[in-house]
Amino acid sequence: MASNLPAATGFLAEVRQDGGRAVEPVFAALGDRDRRRERTDDQVLHTVLVHSGTPDGARARTRGGTLVFAGELYNRDELIRLLPGGALPGGDAALVAALFAAYDVHVFRLLNGRFAALIADSGRAVLATDHAGTVPLYVSVAPGRVLAATEAKALRTAPRGRPLSAPPVRRLPGTHQVPAGGVLDIAVATGACLTHRTWTPPLARRIMPEAEAVDTVRRTLERAVVSRTGRGTPLVVLSGGIDSSTVAALAARRSLPPIDTVSMGTDEADEFPQARVVARHIGSAHREVTIPTEELLSRLPHTVWAAECLDPDVVEYLLPLTALYLRLPRTTDGGRRILTGYGADIPLGGMHRESRLPQLDTAVCHDMSTFDGLNELAPNLSGVTGHWSTHPYWDRDVLDVLVSLEAGLKRRHGRDKWVLRAAMDDVLPHEVVVRPKLGVHEGSGTTSSFSRLLRDAGVPQDLVRRAKRLVVQEMFDHVVVEGRHPDEVAADAVVERVTGRLVPGARPVPQ
Ligand code: AMP
Ligand code: MG
Repeated sequence: MASNLPAATGFLAEVRQDGGRAVEPVFAALGDRDRRRERTDDQVLHTVLVHSGTPDGARARTRGGTLVFAGELYNRDELIRLLPGGALPGGDAALVAALFAAYDVHVFRLLNGRFAALIADSGRAVLATDHAGTVPLYVSVAPGRVLAATEAKALRTAPRGRPLSAPPVRRLPGTHQVPAGGVLDIAVATGACLTHRTWTPPLARRIMPEAEAVDTVRRTLERAVVSRTGRGTPLVVLSGGIDSSTVAALAARRSLPPIDTVSMGTDEADEFPQARVVARHIGSAHREVTIPTEELLSRLPHTVWAAECLDPDVVEYLLPLTALYLRLPRTTDGGRRILTGYGADIPLGGMHRESRLPQLDTAVCHDMSTFDGLNELAPNLSGVTGHWSTHPYWDRDVLDVLVSLEAGLKRRHGRDKWVLRAAMDDVLPHEVVVRPKLGVHEGSGTTSSFSRLLRDAGVPQDLVRRAKRLVVQEMFDHVVVEGRHPDEVAADAVVERVTGRLVPGARPVPQ
């Protein structure tokens, strides 16, 4: 059966001028592994793909070598029109390879997608991420050898690489993360590296009449949702807030059979009633999953393992969904295509609950210039159970529109995210359209239960933030730097050690 998922969801690729022994990677992403060794011109390319049945679709021949592609494109139709005679190559990898022949590295300026790619071609290794780096890509370079992987842990045993002008990875010397919207063009023989930037968040703001802004947002979002729904029945992770309800409603409109929706809650907090209103309205097949708080917190190491993220706030946002995905094992039919409402707040300034326009745009500018490297949209969160997640709000066209709207369209008539709410006025029930923002870390009680875990271990309130950072760091060291499986890393043992370092002589608070 042809999979409804991308041909590959992750890879390790090693380009070498000598033979050498290949690196044996560890991945958090679940899937079959396809190993291949091939000679291109003057170098050897060794690849390991994480895939779900059709690995050939993730590789394509270029004139002088091979392209390896994890992820998918959302503007295939536009791209195909660029080919001579509108020729239709097989999968996304073949399409990018064909365009590489015409545009070389600048092909990556054309793509709207969620991907990481490597091209080994005539003495070069070209590495690229999508506009927002939503599929993280890591690299280690030495003269005669380039190693790249979609997970930093896959490179943990690589020989030390040379310094590059890309952010280094904690405690993996010589391993760097390819920037969002970045292309590294590396001469394999010398390791010399040229960097290109293929996308940058819009800095200017567009002035539009209300109706035009609302219509633009609606049309752009519809296209982003449709291009992500694939052939099967999509699953939407639904909180009942405006962001995910919009995605679910637009997906449901384009699907003949009812779409699937799922909501998570804990024994302490949930948004089940809110999500139910939406599920009933759009007629989805809806499920509720209640996760005990103890189980939720035990998934902290899994979250760090999947996202390779060191930011404690982001780990808190990602933890509830990771715990949910771990409750949705892959079936014999394969992994699911999952749509989320993630990330709408960043271009719209929704998280900041800010009504003053200068402060709102300051928040948008700040968040759009600091998202890179946080891995908030990493596919491996759902990838640990073999699913593929995709986020319509971070579609390249949607992001361009949302970021660039002037702040007065984002905050208007006393409402945050006004333009989005107005765009959905005729599709969602009024109570959903006007529902105030509730972050997943709040709606599931994650922030408060993580704080309580630390206070109960003896961390004073004023050190809780610091302790969270240290806990995440230590977990990162275990599951990324040391390559341990998160099932072997007990969250409470890490908490105890961090507390001991931070507050010597601390006694756990009696329960
Ligand atoms: P939020 O922090 O509320 O913006 O959440 C980000 C995204 O995560 C939402 O758009 C939903 O797709 C998903 N999400 C949030 N809360 C839940 C929940 N309780 N159950 C399922 N999915 C959720
Ligand atoms: Mg929410």
